Amino acid sequence: MNVEVNDELCIGCGQCVDTCPEVFGMVGEVAMAMNPERAGDCDVAEAAELCPVNAITID
Ligand code: SF4
Repeated sequence: MNVEVNDELCIGCGQCVDTCPEVFGMVGEVAMAMNPERAGDCDVAEAAELCPVNAITID
């Protein structure tokens, strides 16, 4: 599974990190998918749904 954060859209709210800390982390003001290979360990789909600016894509 490929998980990406569009850092031009991300507003740094931290919601995805709260929902799925195994995958997402903050780098400065924006989130990154640090460990996409761990997408099975948390609810990445929910993290993407909850993102207020739809910055998370999952393939
Ligand atoms: S939920 Fe969306 S806007 Fe918020 S930190 Fe994560 S990617 Fe950025």
